[in-house]
Amino acid sequence: MAIIEVSNLKKSYGKLDVLKQITFDVNKNDVVAVIGPSGSGKSTMLRSLIHLEEIDGGSICVSGNHMVKDGVYAKPHEIKQITGKMGMVFQHFNLFPHLTVKENLELAPKMLKKETSAEIQQRSQELLEKIGLSNRAAAYPANLSGGQKQRVAIARALMMNPEILLFDEPTSALDPELTGEVLQVMKDLAQEQMTMIVVTHEMGFAKEVANKVMFMDNGEVVESGSPEQLFMKPQFERTKTFLNRSL
Ligand code: ADP
Ligand code: MG
Repeated sequence: MAIIEVSNLKKSYGKLDVLKQITFDVNKNDVVAVIGPSGSGKSTMLRSLIHLEEIDGGSICVSGNHMVKDGVYAKPHEIKQITGKMGMVFQHFNLFPHLTVKENLELAPKMLKKETSAEIQQRSQELLEKIGLSNRAAAYPANLSGGQKQRVAIARALMMNPEILLFDEPTSALDPELTGEVLQVMKDLAQEQMTMIVVTHEMGFAKEVANKVMFMDNGEVVESGSPEQLFMKPQFERTKTFLNRSL
């Protein structure tokens, strides 16, 4: 069952066509790895899904609800409802520097006022345990390692109980020795059947954890398939060239 349906997505910055008729589906419980060279439109595609960018044409449908259909956006409250099903983790963590770890986790749910403070605190405690940082609840982001910051960013995204998690190069800003702890949290989420779209340069993660790999180049989805198909039997010269450079 498709949880995200993207069709003919178009986005330009002035004369630069950044996304050219992008079409793909994500099924519930999929872990989709999005790979491709820098500047190919991966971040723009991901940001479009949660309405951090407005697209110029095409459709995005989440759980059967159109956020944008043939270039026409739904009403703001409808868009909010749809983007609320998704959480995003950025390359540079984007934690609030003036808030503690616990406060970073609890801010958005508290502002939403849908749960009691006790419920929110219980969940933040559980999530901090899950990412192995319950002893750092009172710490400020500046006093955490990059790997810890990114684990907090993941927990913060999970606080909103998203149906889908989007990751934009979550380990690219980390020292190599810190990528493992972040990838492990993501692997655990995949094992718990979280639906995830992960833009990544970590080919090992894509091979091991993803069930679909999507190769983007120059604003297009060149090809997509299972990791075996894409890594072992790439169909297009552009994919082969990229993989030869990355593996
Ligand atoms: P990727 O994530 O694959 O590296 P991006 O989606 O960040 O690619 O960028 C795709 C293209 O769009 C690049 O050429 C980039 O320079 C351009 N671009 C991205 N954001 C903007 C912007 N806000 N204004 C103008 N050009 C942009
Ligand atoms: Mg990017």
